[in-house]
Amino acid sequence: MTSDDRTPQRATLGTWPTPLEPMPRLAGALGLNPDDLSVKRDDLTGLGGGGNKIRKLEWICGAALADGATTLVTSGAPQSNHARLTAAAGARLGLDVVLVLAGSPGSSASGNLALNGLFGATVVWAGDVGGEALRSAAEQVAEQLRHRGAVPALIPFGGSSVLGARGYVECGRELLAQAPDLATVVVAVGSGGTMAGLVDVLGPARVLGVHCGAVGDPARTVSELASGLSGTHCAPEALRLRLDQVGDGYGALTERVMAAMTLAAHTEGIVLDPVYTGRAMAGLIAATEAGDIVPGQRTILLHSGGLPGLFGHPATLARAEAALTAGGLVRPRGPVGRE
Ligand SMILES: *Cc1c(COP(=O)(O)O)cnc(C)c1O
Repeated sequence: MTSDDRTPQRATLGTWPTPLEPMPRLAGALGLNPDDLSVKRDDLTGLGGGGNKIRKLEWICGAALADGATTLVTSGAPQSNHARLTAAAGARLGLDVVLVLAGSPGSSASGNLALNGLFGATVVWAGDVGGEALRSAAEQVAEQLRHRGAVPALIPFGGSSVLGARGYVECGRELLAQAPDLATVVVAVGSGGTMAGLVDVLGPARVLGVHCGAVGDPARTVSELASGLSGTHCAPEALRLRLDQVGDGYGALTERVMAAMTLAAHTEGIVLDPVYTGRAMAGLIAATEAGDIVPGQRTILLHSGGLPGLFGHPATLARAEAALTAGGLVRPRGPVGRE
């Protein structure tokens, strides 16, 4: 890739390249051959508990530093992984961080929210708002900071600007080096930058996105970002997207996601989260059942992180704990042969 004077410097935040690990037992459980399935461990990006937002934040923070920013401002849901990793990036780079989160204070601090506090971020509660209203609340906070003499860098929801999506152009290149024969990369779609970056390198036919319910029109969101990256139009209809894993909405645990999380954990010791990576795995299973993913082809699940979010999701934790007490090993049994 050529770089010109307008190409900002990347900040160094993560640990690269992330591993690509074979998942033979998970592949077998899905009726695939043992070497058909691997997991790209972008949950192991290093900083702040890891996750996909680190790749985007390297570019976004590089530009913010070049612009003389003193404060990173971003917005999201209370359990936003992106907000938590922005807080960690600010700590690493010596920048203040203000997180504008949907909701109100008082709910018990857990998961990502607790980590935000540990990283020293300031949280501004925007009330029960989403989308456009949350974005304008973040703009107002940035304006107030400017009045106080700070230089804020306003980072969009999920870090999904065209600049941020460059981080996943690099991930796509890493994948091609690690698995030149890859047929399909399965990825959770939230704000869309992760899928867009991968599509830029791998083309739309090799990336299967699983919509998580975070945006209204995922095909348009991803196609706009992908078009911005390549400079040529990426048709929304050309994208491979599954819209069938949202269930009752973004924050809600579905049975198929619980089953997918359980399968990955039982067969490979891999922890997925209920909002993003569990949906990606559930979409991968559904695609296998539908014959869209077939034996003999190389499939990669992009593990995009989210572990702290699991610890901020009481419904999933309750199900996991219920599975533990029903496990049987510690249940008292009668003497062998005398039932
Ligand atoms: C944000 C996020 C995603 C989705 O990435 P986008 O680029 O926003 O589509 C997937 N997985 C996890 C764990 C995330 O935090």
